[in-house]
Amino acid sequence: MKLTTLIKTINTAKKIYNKIVPYFLQDILVRKFGQGTYLSQVEFHIVDHCNLNCAHCNHFTPLASENYCKIDDIVDDFKKLKIIFDNIGKIFIVGGEPLLHPELLKILDPLRNLYPNSEIIIITNGILLDKQKEEFFDALKKYHIALSMTHYPIKVDYEGWIKKLDEMGIKAYYFSLDRNKMRKQNLNLEGSSNKEKAFLKCHEKNCHFLRDGKLYVCTPVPNICFLNKYFNLDFKIKKTDYIDLNKVKSASYINAIFKRPINFCRYCNDKEIEFDKYKISKKELSEWVKI
Ligand code: SF4
Ligand code: SF4
Repeated sequence: MKLTTLIKTINTAKKIYNKIVPYFLQDILVRKFGQGTYLSQVEFHIVDHCNLNCAHCNHFTPLASENYCKIDDIVDDFKKLKIIFDNIGKIFIVGGEPLLHPELLKILDPLRNLYPNSEIIIITNGILLDKQKEEFFDALKKYHIALSMTHYPIKVDYEGWIKKLDEMGIKAYYFSLDRNKMRKQNLNLEGSSNKEKAFLKCHEKNCHFLRDGKLYVCTPVPNICFLNKYFNLDFKIKKTDYIDLNKVKSASYINAIFKRPINFCRYCNDKEIEFDKYKISKKELSEWVKI
């Protein structure tokens, strides 16, 4: 059999399996005969604000008020997630700037206990690395936490830090190398975008996001509240735009939902992707909305 025919046959078999086998049964089967239920990746805010405030930030961070998320609440959310997903590929600790949280290290032990095999990564702009005490680097080593840096055009010696962390035995790498330009969000205020097209082009549909007992397919939906509040807008989130972890308990169901566009996709860019030169936010609507 040719490779292409084999791939087609496997995909058809997968489609039939997903259609005829109920989700709860798929979960049971993967637990009994596979490696357990699985989510590819999830991220969460440990703070909402940032010390850099880039224009076009896709977490709308320059518009967020100073907010340090409660460690206990995050742990509770991960306990709920653990009931559904036995394994998670990657867990990203993000913000805002995670190093702003005075209790950042307190999340590492519970996270590592719940998900011993996940890759856990802190995403940082690097500005506060110089200020970290020995206990910070010790904790990264102890709990096998990686540090991922976005290479912004600012005065941080990213090369030097990657080398230094490597020497300390801490996994460190660039999250994004080219931040001389930023992708424009170009949100559609009318909500008249083609959902399928927007979803197909979307760079964020695998950036699943955990907040307040809810799991979202992507980053913009849970964080749109910052844009709405700052500019007094009304981007609407429907109940079908997220998974309520108190109600939904099936990993197979969630993974199936995450493969399809949601109602909120009607606000996203379904046209050509545009970029803008890197700059600090002036908190102007045009940084996020097509006007
Ligand atoms: S450093 Fe990252 S989180 Fe902070 S404003 Fe820039 S893009 Fe947003
Ligand atoms: S709402 Fe849809 S198109 Fe917009 S970021 Fe999320 S998944 Fe992507």
